[in-house]
Amino acid sequence: MKVLQLQRTLLLLLRGATLSPHRTCGKISPDNTLRVLIDMDGVLADFEGGFLKKYRQRYPNEPYISLEERRGFWVSSQYGELREDLCDKAVSIWESKNFFMDLDPLPGSLEAVKEMAKMKNTDVFICTSPIKHYKHCPYEKYAWVERHLGPDFLEKVILTRDKTVVSGDILIDDKPDILGVEPNPSWEHVLFTACHNKHLPASTSQKRLLSWADDWRGILEGK
Ligand SMILES: [Mg+2]
Repeated sequence: MKVLQLQRTLLLLLRGATLSPHRTCGKISPDNTLRVLIDMDGVLADFEGGFLKKYRQRYPNEPYISLEERRGFWVSSQYGELREDLCDKAVSIWESKNFFMDLDPLPGSLEAVKEMAKMKNTDVFICTSPIKHYKHCPYEKYAWVERHLGPDFLEKVILTRDKTVVSGDILIDDKPDILGVEPNPSWEHVLFTACHNKHLPASTSQKRLLSWADDWRGILEGK
């Protein structure tokens, strides 16, 4: 009788473990591993700086928006407001060959990601949305990761247009509103400060990472 009771208890425990991988501390992985998703453009790679440099090279006589004057996530929208035809000119920059490949890493980003990937009980993924003009961008994103972080990091690249369907504990991203088909993503969005979002009012519910010199380790430890 005792053996039967023990078997039943074990079965219930196993079933509970299968059905409820979420720990009470909020970590998603059953093995206590923190999963961090890191955006690429504006977090690892300097999209805004790279854009402005190439835009001014290609259109030296056209007006431009300095990084101090940048407002709103979409570069092309702000250029379109400046003058209608500048929207397409802006888009032409990131649709060009080598735009994504040539982006400089943001200060401290590579060091932080490499250190994070070595941390115990921490899985790091690069979660990035390629542009729909796919001729160069997806290839160059992989090539950029290989060049700056090494071939092993290619295992960690997630290309998706909808980050809400990707599961993780933390998503570090410079886009203020990350929407998709999943209304309740598993990750907590940590807003990475960029020229286009630094003027947004502070949110009580959303954490910010001001740069890679900021306390990213503390944010991970706080999960
Ligand atoms: Mg981004």
